[in-house]
Amino acid sequence: MAISTPPTELSIPTLRTEFPGRVIGPDDATYDEARKVLYGGFDKRPAVIIRVENANEVARVIALAGETGLELAVRSGGHSNAGHSTTEGGIVLDLSPMKQIEIDVPNRTAWAQAGLTALELTQETDKHGLAVGFGDTGSVGIGGITLGGGVGYLVRKHGLTIDSLLAAEIVTADGQLLQVDETHHPDLFWAIRGGGGNFGVATNFKYQLHEVGTVVGGLLILPATSDTIAGFMALSESAPEELSSIANVMPAMPMPGVPEELVGQVVIFAIMCWAGDEKAGEEALKPFRALATPLMDEVKPIPYPQIYPPEDPDYHPTAVAHTMFIDTVDRGVAETIMGYLESSDASLRVAQLRTLGGAYARVPADATAYAHRSSRIMVNVAAFYDGTPEDQAVRQAWVDRFARALRQGDEGAYVNFLSEEGPERVRAAYPGATWDRLFEIKSRYDPTNLFRLNQNIPPEAT
Ligand SMILES: Cc1cc2nc3c(=O)[nH]c(=O)nc-3n(C[C@H](O)[C@H](O)[C@H](O)COP(=O)(O)OP(=O)(O)OC[C@H]3O[C@@H](n4cnc5c(N)ncnc54)[C@H](O)[C@@H]3O)c2cc1C
Repeated sequence: MAISTPPTELSIPTLRTEFPGRVIGPDDATYDEARKVLYGGFDKRPAVIIRVENANEVARVIALAGETGLELAVRSGGHSNAGHSTTEGGIVLDLSPMKQIEIDVPNRTAWAQAGLTALELTQETDKHGLAVGFGDTGSVGIGGITLGGGVGYLVRKHGLTIDSLLAAEIVTADGQLLQVDETHHPDLFWAIRGGGGNFGVATNFKYQLHEVGTVVGGLLILPATSDTIAGFMALSESAPEELSSIANVMPAMPMPGVPEELVGQVVIFAIMCWAGDEKAGEEALKPFRALATPLMDEVKPIPYPQIYPPEDPDYHPTAVAHTMFIDTVDRGVAETIMGYLESSDASLRVAQLRTLGGAYARVPADATAYAHRSSRIMVNVAAFYDGTPEDQAVRQAWVDRFARALRQGDEGAYVNFLSEEGPERVRAAYPGATWDRLFEIKSRYDPTNLFRLNQNIPPEAT
């Protein structure tokens, strides 16, 4: 008969001796600030938040979660759409102090610790004219975005973030620190490139850097009509792969530079990024500018880190969203988009369109745990709500209807844009053989599902 030991009580005073100055409990003055994550609506009260400085400390917190039986939330940048980096009554393992970077300029590689944000790492690599692509927002943690895939301003030129991942250090459920790459624990290396936080806590990533330096990029606002939207998408698909763009079709927000009369009008709010020869970039951008007279045009040669828009650290929106892939945005689809955006009165509502292809599509679907390589356009439909459950239900119903109207047969989903949407949607992120392989690897490396506060792949034993 198996004898189970009773769980150990969590002792904050004991933890304070182990992690001096880096343990935050409910009685601490900084608790309310420390328990915040980017998204509002996740008002959870962890038993403790522990800020770790190295892999040994990570292993100690993992052991503590096992000993106490408390839920473990792993936090790098705190941007989880699903609120997974906080927990009610559990332990938050906060990697934000881990910000070391080692850049090997001749070999164009960098080891970067998981507590860095995309902007922090990009600013350092930019000093050498080098970069790795992350997403559209500088404050996103490299931890979460890398483990899920990473779709951003260099996606068509250099692929996903994981396509530039050469190795990682990861602390597994049994407390071992493993270096994983194509030859060491290749199964785990495959799984962490898209499989999220299911397999352990990543402490350090080794990236292949690319020569990026100056890009021709920035904000281009065009009037939105079904013709301009369809035209924009056709151009972005046929453009050379040096050009990646993120087109947010949405009502214009009040912001510096946006004329007052434009606020509330549906526009194409696009961030353009040409990573290549400057003159060729200007040429490639001409047809976009010719779609309609731009309402704002800030696209120009800039150092790559400036592509990340400025951010307000006190921004904690409450939002509902649906992520999906579609094949085309023709005039009919564009009309649907306009119709939905004009029919809602949510304070912010958007259809975000990201054209894929290029380097992203050249990676075989089974080479990493991110399998959606033949998907052509990533769409995120989202709306803000006012924080009340009533408004949340109204906005969610609109998002669901909108997503249904856009569906074209590609049933996949990008894991890093999923909210808490249930097991079916996690399966959509990992179709077919990808799921089977992840399930087998999860069952070996985390048989008790210690890492379960994520888009979860439950192991066999649970
Ligand atoms: C404003 C905003 C913009 C975004 N834009 C993009 C975009 O353009 N492209 C894109 O691809 N994604 C984008 N995302 C999604 C983003 O990639 C995910 O939310 C990602 O998980 C955030 O990483 P994080 O480290 O900040 O989050 P956290 O909340 O800290 O982590 C999220 C989850 O990832 C896992 N995790 C994080 N770090 C580790 C680690 N070191 N080891 C093990 N598991 C870990 C955990 O399960 C954790 O719950 C965006 C999100 C936001 C909020």
